[in-house]
Amino acid sequence: MAESRTILIAGAGIGGLTAALALADRGFRVVVLEQAVQLEPTGAGLQLSPNAARVLIGLGAAERLAAVAVAPDAVRVRNAAGRDLARIPIGRSPTRYGAPYWVAHRGDLHGVLLDLVRARPDITLTLGARVDEYAVHANGVTVATAGPSVAGEFAGLALIGADGVWSRVRARLFDDGPALPAGRTAWRALLPADRVEPEHRAPTVNLWLGRGAHLVHYPVRAGALINLVAIAADDEIVTGWSAPGDGAEVLRRFPAHQWAAPARDLLARPERWLRWSLYDRRPGRRWGRGPVTLLGDAVHPMLPFMAQGAAMAIEDAAVLADALARRPWDAPGALREYEGRRRDRTAAVQRTARRNDRVYHLGQPAALLRDLAMRTVLGGETVLARHDWLYAWRPPPSFDPAPPVQAEE
Ligand SMILES: Cc1cc2nc3c(=O)[nH]c(=O)nc-3n(C[C@H](O)[C@H](O)[C@H](O)COP(=O)(O)OP(=O)(O)OC[C@H]3O[C@@H](n4cnc5c(N)ncnc54)[C@H](O)[C@@H]3O)c2cc1C
Repeated sequence: MAESRTILIAGAGIGGLTAALALADRGFRVVVLEQAVQLEPTGAGLQLSPNAARVLIGLGAAERLAAVAVAPDAVRVRNAAGRDLARIPIGRSPTRYGAPYWVAHRGDLHGVLLDLVRARPDITLTLGARVDEYAVHANGVTVATAGPSVAGEFAGLALIGADGVWSRVRARLFDDGPALPAGRTAWRALLPADRVEPEHRAPTVNLWLGRGAHLVHYPVRAGALINLVAIAADDEIVTGWSAPGDGAEVLRRFPAHQWAAPARDLLARPERWLRWSLYDRRPGRRWGRGPVTLLGDAVHPMLPFMAQGAAMAIEDAAVLADALARRPWDAPGALREYEGRRRDRTAAVQRTARRNDRVYHLGQPAALLRDLAMRTVLGGETVLARHDWLYAWRPPPSFDPAPPVQAEE
């Protein structure tokens, strides 16, 4: 029957589209159900470390991504006073890890994935179809969508909940409550590159660390735009990706007596800010049941302090497709295998992101010790080496475009 090779995916975000491509490459038919009526290039920048870039290259996205992304030479770390602490040489990623480190506008990455999905006759993307309910039966799973434009039923061998941090599939699976606000707000803005000083246009990820707040900025869209992310402790909660932010409030969080003039000058430029509350969850044992599983933010939403949210969803997609391809006759077994292969790694990234939250936002005197350690003991090379476990990850061999750097999955 038709659904014996059909996989249903809830959500056409970064994880859902990557999973659709990976599954189609493994010979599955894929139906992607997305609640949005239109997919717009909203959002701002995100980071694609080599562990994720490698999967995307394996899916045929290399040329298109290289045309819109930026490959930074380094992460330049400074404290709020403007003192250089470390320069992490991520520009060496192609030789060290076998794949580039890219930064990109989320809309550009999403657009590349969408183009690839739309070119595949074995993937059907249905917009305006909000996954609402599902029922498990002997042949797999049937999903009911509730609009806004497509109300209907879709049958498949398995359902993948790639429906993001406010996942409906997760709520139906476990009813274990929503992801929790982390008491942090991210203000995001994009600036035309010609409106900033040349030093800010350099292909570098800039990270500034201060008490209770930090700032990240880097070029995206092949260098045409500068992405700014200002994160500070904040208990006010907003839902969604498009709430407007207030520039004056951002500057209040980065006061002149703590923050060096170049950082504040940059923060004073944008006319439009977006404001997002950050959410996360404790790593959990349960990811799915029967022919249903979760992927990306739906299962492991994470703080952005490791810049791994999109990367982990992309890794999930490759492992999921590999597990299903190994035993398509046993979808529940394949999904449990996928979960087992992903659980510890994603939990480790979630925990490291939480730890970085504390380290980034230290006040005095602890910040003094952190700065001293970074400048004198650690240095950029050592900091990069400490990320080898993360960046040197290899997808299953069939998704791996480069010769192995080290033996891993
Ligand atoms: C519009 C938007 C803009 C973003 N901008 C940025 C950014 O600039 N920088 C950044 O670091 N991260 C951004 N993110 C988050 C980032 O994409 C994710 O944290 C990360 O890529 C993990 O991806 P994901 O596939 O798990 O979730 P997401 O990429 O969030 O995708 C989830 C998808 O599921 C859809 N969906 C939700 N519920 C349902 C349902 N019931 N039925 C069907 N579809 C559903 C959503 O509309 C969305 O398309 C953005 C997310 C969105 C949705």
